[in-house]
Amino acid sequence: MTNYTTKRLGVMTSGGDAPGMNPAVRAVVRTALERNIDVYAIYEGYQGLVDGGSYIQKMNWNSVGGIMHRGGTVIGTARCAEFRSRSGRLQTTRNLLEHGINSLIVIGGDGSLTGANLFRQEWPDLVAELRERGDIDQVTLEQNPYLTVTGLVGSIDNDMVGTDMTIGADTALHRITQAIDSISSTAASHQRMFVVEVMGRNCGYLALMSAIATGADWVFIPESPPNVDDWQTHMCQVLKSGREVGRRDSIVIVAEGARDRQGNPINAEQIKQILETQLGEDTRVTILGHVQRGGAPSAFDRYMSTLLGHAAVEHALSAPSDGESVLIGVRNNRITQAPLMQCVAQTHAIADAINAQNYQQAMELRGGSFQDSYRTLRTLVRTLPRPPKPGKKTLRLAVMNASAPSPGMNTAVRAAVRLGLDEGHTMLGVQDGFNGLTDGNIVPMDWMSVSGWSAMGGAELGTSRRIPEGRDLYAIARNIEEQEIQGLLVIGGWSGYQAASRLVRERENFAAFNIPIICLPATINNNLPGSELSIGADTALNSIVEVVDKIKQSAVATHRCFVVEVMGRYCGYLALMSGLSTGAERVYLHEEGVTLRDLEADLAQLIRGFQHGKRLGLLIRNENVSNIYNTGFMCALFEEEGGDLFEVRQAILGHLQQGGNPTPFDRIQATRLAAQCVDFLVQEADKPTPAGSFIGLTEGQVRFFNLEDLPRMVDNAHQRPKEQWWMELRNIARILAQPEPHFIKDKEAEAQQTVR
Ligand code: ADP
Repeated sequence: MTNYTTKRLGVMTSGGDAPGMNPAVRAVVRTALERNIDVYAIYEGYQGLVDGGSYIQKMNWNSVGGIMHRGGTVIGTARCAEFRSRSGRLQTTRNLLEHGINSLIVIGGDGSLTGANLFRQEWPDLVAELRERGDIDQVTLEQNPYLTVTGLVGSIDNDMVGTDMTIGADTALHRITQAIDSISSTAASHQRMFVVEVMGRNCGYLALMSAIATGADWVFIPESPPNVDDWQTHMCQVLKSGREVGRRDSIVIVAEGARDRQGNPINAEQIKQILETQLGEDTRVTILGHVQRGGAPSAFDRYMSTLLGHAAVEHALSAPSDGESVLIGVRNNRITQAPLMQCVAQTHAIADAINAQNYQQAMELRGGSFQDSYRTLRTLVRTLPRPPKPGKKTLRLAVMNASAPSPGMNTAVRAAVRLGLDEGHTMLGVQDGFNGLTDGNIVPMDWMSVSGWSAMGGAELGTSRRIPEGRDLYAIARNIEEQEIQGLLVIGGWSGYQAASRLVRERENFAAFNIPIICLPATINNNLPGSELSIGADTALNSIVEVVDKIKQSAVATHRCFVVEVMGRYCGYLALMSGLSTGAERVYLHEEGVTLRDLEADLAQLIRGFQHGKRLGLLIRNENVSNIYNTGFMCALFEEEGGDLFEVRQAILGHLQQGGNPTPFDRIQATRLAAQCVDFLVQEADKPTPAGSFIGLTEGQVRFFNLEDLPRMVDNAHQRPKEQWWMELRNIARILAQPEPHFIKDKEAEAQQTVR
């Protein structure tokens, strides 16, 4: 019979620290409090559990305030030998029962999670032993027959099966990508070679993804050693031919655990020696080390860890007390659960396969998208396209941007051009969006014409919002015919999709439009159907989060309330997700609207908060929530009514959200989608009626949709999809940021203590 006993939660971080642990702890604590459950933080990992006393502290709402943006873990972590022994775990049981804690949420790597599961298994015996010794009474024994364990994976390596992303991996990729971008510019200035070592003993995720994101020239990962024995010569030949065609810099990325086919380690110093002796090139080594672990968490590591922490509590409270340990992870952009020990076993199986030199199995166990990324990378690093296979049909394919610039557009163009050239196709670049297609500004693109584009923000090919009509269509048809364009890739947002749809709709009138057309979602607004995340949205979100961090710092000393206006047109994605990632107490979305009554309630809450010692208010609004109650109006209202209690300032973030170099996620997705789009154009080119489509990533799957279906998938008046997956996160954002009544309760308790 399953057993449900009252749960009291403990949350801890253990093993290596990872950025994103703090948002997870915050979400655990606040979700538990919202459910009226006592929650304790265990400081210093398992050491704190063994030592007990002040290492186990009851948390309140405010004890996890202001920690979201901080790297590492504010509750500390440690490696602890005593916890590995039964006597250590007996002491731990005693300490937990002192507070009645019988449900642990552990945020750590596979070691920490294995330890937690072992502890859970032993718990009934440990409790019985404490009773026998007379350390606990019969009631305590009966109230705590089982320990439940819920695991979240905190590890920058992304090395765990059971979750697509571990907490900290996205931030580590940010750090690595920033570092390699910087190295690339100095390397190019001096025409140098750089070897960069990144973390990953058994997992090549960081090395592989950072190589895709930065356009590096060679990569070594543990799961797939070089497939020739004399890899040294092979690598040197490829890098040398890169130089011969004009590359100014060469970057080799090596994962810590890289090896050759025989299992011998390959390290950065060794690669440097090889490059210097065989190529005579000045080569420098950079070992990124702990830089990868540090710093403020990325937007993803804030909002996803928040969702994970929230889900962990929901699970811990609803699971049977005697249930198996469960891992809460993220798969295909959704929170999932899996049996913890199964995930640990599969993770170990990958390490075992690598050690047994069974590399094929290791790659298979890593999964399809890892393998796809690896294949794409191998093509992208090639210096020059392979000679076309005899008899293979080659095409003339055009690539263009459309709509407002979005970070990642260049990355997508680069990938499409190189992957197309590699298959022997002629690649054409259309300049300035549909302006260029109308005016005939179309240029051939060669391999080196897109060199360095992976990391560049903006839109090197140019872009425009033009949607062709009337005479434009004749001009476009003529240009397509003259240039013999046999397939068109449109990388862009709302107006790009509209423009491409128009061409497809006009096929009856213009035979030239009867070519495959594919749209790739690229807009910071994330307002396109069929795709949960468009290219550029992650970069914009990170830009917002960085600025809001600064705004918050500027405001705490002065009792200020900030109203931050973010872009998105009528789509609230950026507003909601930046609210979740920064802990804003209120988010205003056009989807929900805003009434005067709402504003009055928000104002009343601000006043009560500041009366009770609140120092900072943060409200985030989408740019189009309401024309009447606009940002200026809201600020004036709050300022006037707030009197001397607080000042109000507005921050309209504007175009900084469209700028900036793309984040690793945007670069990786742009590359992945561009590869699929080129394949799509080639496949469709043979068909009598080639498709006009748009591509998207939905629940982790790449899918193609017919442009004819676009109208029924969107709310045209508000230029957003009818289905918006992220709307279901509103409630969590609301729960976690709503400071009342907890905030006030805590402040009153503090005040009373001071009086006493
Ligand atoms: P990570 O969680 O990052 O993999 P470690 O493997 O170093 O890090 O584990 C962190 C801590 O978890 C260890 O210091 C130890 O206290 C505990 N731990 C790890 N493995 C076990 C185990 N098999 N049994 C009990 N405790 C363990």
